[in-house]
Amino acid sequence: MALDNKRDKHLSFTAMVIDDNTVRNGRGLSDQWADSVVVRPRTTERHITVHKTLVLGFAISILTLIIVTIIAVLLSVKFEECTGEPSGRPASGNHTKFNQTRDSQVHHRGEEHGIQPWKLLRLPTSLRPIHYNLHLTVFMDNFTFHGQVSIEFECLNSTRFIVLHADRLELQRAMVYTGERRRGALKVHRQFKYPANQVLVIALNGEMEPRRSYKVNLTFHARIEYELLGFFRSTYPQLGDKRYLAVTQFSPIHARKAFPCFDEPIYKATFKISIKHESSYLSLSNMPVEGSEPDEEGWVTDHFVRTPRMSTYYLAWAVCNFTYKETLTNRGVTIRLYARPDAIQRGSGDYALHITKRLLEFYEDYFKVKYSLPKLDLLAVPKHPYSAMENWGLSVFVEQKILLDPGVSSVSYLMDLTMVVVHEICHQWFGDLVTPVWWEDVWLKEGFAHFFEFVGTDFLFPNWNMEKQRFLTDVLHEVMLLDGLASSHPISQEVHQATDIDRVFDWIAYKKGAALIRMLANVMGQPVFQMGLKDYLITHMYGNAARDDLWNKFSEAMRKEGKDINVKEVMDRWTLQMGFPVVTIIKNDSLDDSVTISQEHFIFDVDAKPRDSERSNSSYQWHIPLTIAVGNSSHISTELTIWVSNRSELHRINQMDEDSWLLGNINQTGYFRVNYDLRNWRLLIEQLMSNHEVISVGNRAGLIDDVFNLARAGYLPQNIPLELIRYLSQEKEFLPWHAASRVLYHLDKLLDRTEEYNLFSDYILKQVASIYHMLGWPTAFSNGSVVQVAYQTEELRREVIMLACSFGHKHCHQQAISLISDWISSNKNRIPPNVRDIVYCTGVSLMDEDVWEFIWMKFHSSTAISEKKVLLEALTCSDNAFLLNRLLNLSLSSDLLPNQDVIDVIIHVARNPHGRHLAWKYFRDKWDILNSRYGEALFINSKLINGVTEYLTTEAELNELKHFVRNNGGGTISSFQRALEIVEANVRWHSLFEEQFFQWLRKSLTS
Ligand SMILES: [Zn+2]
Repeated sequence: MALDNKRDKHLSFTAMVIDDNTVRNGRGLSDQWADSVVVRPRTTERHITVHKTLVLGFAISILTLIIVTIIAVLLSVKFEECTGEPSGRPASGNHTKFNQTRDSQVHHRGEEHGIQPWKLLRLPTSLRPIHYNLHLTVFMDNFTFHGQVSIEFECLNSTRFIVLHADRLELQRAMVYTGERRRGALKVHRQFKYPANQVLVIALNGEMEPRRSYKVNLTFHARIEYELLGFFRSTYPQLGDKRYLAVTQFSPIHARKAFPCFDEPIYKATFKISIKHESSYLSLSNMPVEGSEPDEEGWVTDHFVRTPRMSTYYLAWAVCNFTYKETLTNRGVTIRLYARPDAIQRGSGDYALHITKRLLEFYEDYFKVKYSLPKLDLLAVPKHPYSAMENWGLSVFVEQKILLDPGVSSVSYLMDLTMVVVHEICHQWFGDLVTPVWWEDVWLKEGFAHFFEFVGTDFLFPNWNMEKQRFLTDVLHEVMLLDGLASSHPISQEVHQATDIDRVFDWIAYKKGAALIRMLANVMGQPVFQMGLKDYLITHMYGNAARDDLWNKFSEAMRKEGKDINVKEVMDRWTLQMGFPVVTIIKNDSLDDSVTISQEHFIFDVDAKPRDSERSNSSYQWHIPLTIAVGNSSHISTELTIWVSNRSELHRINQMDEDSWLLGNINQTGYFRVNYDLRNWRLLIEQLMSNHEVISVGNRAGLIDDVFNLARAGYLPQNIPLELIRYLSQEKEFLPWHAASRVLYHLDKLLDRTEEYNLFSDYILKQVASIYHMLGWPTAFSNGSVVQVAYQTEELRREVIMLACSFGHKHCHQQAISLISDWISSNKNRIPPNVRDIVYCTGVSLMDEDVWEFIWMKFHSSTAISEKKVLLEALTCSDNAFLLNRLLNLSLSSDLLPNQDVIDVIIHVARNPHGRHLAWKYFRDKWDILNSRYGEALFINSKLINGVTEYLTTEAELNELKHFVRNNGGGTISSFQRALEIVEANVRWHSLFEEQFFQWLRKSLTS
């Protein structure tokens, strides 16, 4: 098992201490034969002085030794040439990686004496690539490719080793030159691969000199694999035929699977790419084609324009027979959307093309930095490991995140897709133009792109209010759930080796990154924030930057405005420590208007040990920009900002009287929770009940999320959140409902197998009923186009219908049943797209098997991508174990579903109370298969682990999980640690709070 193996390597590193010393002692002989040559004669030498009679024997043994040595050396050279393996101990190389500390790594980098630079975790810094000439020939008939690369590089420190990344490539002998080709060829002493670090080593006879440039030429070939990384292939049906395409996914470390290169983001260079392919296909890359020449019969070579300086991970190319539509920005940048011909013909790409044009113009205006390339292609592929990848000038999207069928796709599908496009376009600046120095700061690019998803969408749809509202529920509330766990980690994570890199692409990097950037943007103020960003981009364009570079630019921008805040000092607390604080505001009894404000590390389970076990929870402290306002029945004061840096501080707040309440974290711009004394909570609840509009929409959503999570973690009694949501029956805004439904579904899953579940669902329905009847159901295709729909109203209606149907509202159920029945009897789908998922799911769960079969049939016959996904998820709503099992088995064993969908099927079955146990069992039974299929894409894998386990709530299930984790050695994998912590917290909640919770409900429903 891939994961298990990785872990074993983590744990056993004893042998390498010796190996490491060998390196440091500087014997300088690079293989194990060297040991035998040097050590053995010395041992024999001592025997001579003791017994002269052994002289003859000694002479013979010396002779034998010389012969053996010669044979051995010859064999060693042969061995390298045949297999490309180093003659050392490849397996032990793995151990080295774990045994070296970061310091020793830094200490070693660039150091040459007696060292084997291919054993370092990072490329040695002696060489720096300048330019690559890459020529590829792509064979789509047997899925192989052939390549020639010529890399021009500069020598910074003298060395005789060229160490390059190369993985899964069959390489021929390298040629190395000084200056111009064919002049000054350098003699290659030997060439070998060191697979443990995925590098190729070319050892020269002599040393290269500093400040001179050289060239290495390599020829290679490799397979175009089916796996979704490197240069891979995938298929799609067209007019009954199976069509193939080949495309790259290099981020984070897979460029090395397509050509030998310096595959670290810091090694920026220019690239000139040529691709030879059959003329029935077309080829694409980051830059436009500058010329095509016909080759032998039926073949053509496309030559692409040289790129600007860039990193290897966002280089890209594709060979396909797609068609496209195009548009031009005002400045003349060509944007094309490439997809399978039928999708282009249907117009499925038109929407994405249209918004991309507007977004390029928006970002150019916002950043005051022009888009750097002459064109931008968007490529819609049927299979991709992520939603999309921001390759500069050739961004690749999975079809579901870029193709849209007007009239069929729902608003949420549209919104999802829009945000993915906004995200990838933002990366053309944050990531591609300015690139993080190293993967530990991947959140710099991902946090920005995620934050701008909301800012950019607001530009496209000003009424949607994404950054002020939707950001709260989708980002802030979501990530605080994860970051409130002891198994969380700091947003800047040390990355020691290649295999750690996938791990840093998680929700903490994306969502916490975005939340911290938003908090900072609010502290700085929009114009200053924008000025800082512009300076940052201009200073580091075509280069790399680390977080401190950003903090410096922000501090400078603040100083220019006369505000002296050391941004680094503030932000280091937020980025280098995991978690976030809960700020508690307590009104003092004295009459001097004073409040006590304290901070502590918010954690769901106070008994859980933080991952960084050297620290106790109480040692965490932040610099918190707390905004605070005072309110009474009809009015709220303007906010003031208090910096809270100590564990507990006393502050004086004006305008307070007996009946006024305090509200912290105005509009939830800060990344923390706020708690109050019980009296203040009561005053806030009264305010919401009497006139909730005094408190902003954002804060109403924030209060709901805070109050439920504070109670879940035991900071508050269980009745406070239940009392607070009573005001919802008067709430007419989407956001507070959205915040409420998120916390309520969580509680629902926690309670859906308890005896008194009905008490809870009845209580929720009581809050939902009036607004459900007020809003009613949408009518089919009321506006013709989803783009025109009034998003807030439609989303609110949808949210309320979903709550009503899932908590068992009778009218909602009847409505769903009659819509499905109408569809089946008329064979015309008149169900409004925005509620189709709710109707299908409700229908499947309440109606008989024929409905399941009907949806199953529709799933097969539907061609619209968005509709297919909704149909598939509906199939998981059945309460029939036989059907659920059938679906689970089909999803994994057949080629029917895209990889992401397989995961979604399992997760959705787990959400169904009737399927939870099945999914959990299926997950354990098929773990080997799932893990081997998704092992590389840990991101997907951790989503699966989380999705299947998060609603396990019983002691027995916890034990099953513990048993499973133990057997699969998973305790050290963060996804397993997190799963264990969540299930432990679920079990703990039941034992500590369930009774208190139902007791209040019983009382409230009878009174
Ligand atoms: Zn991204």
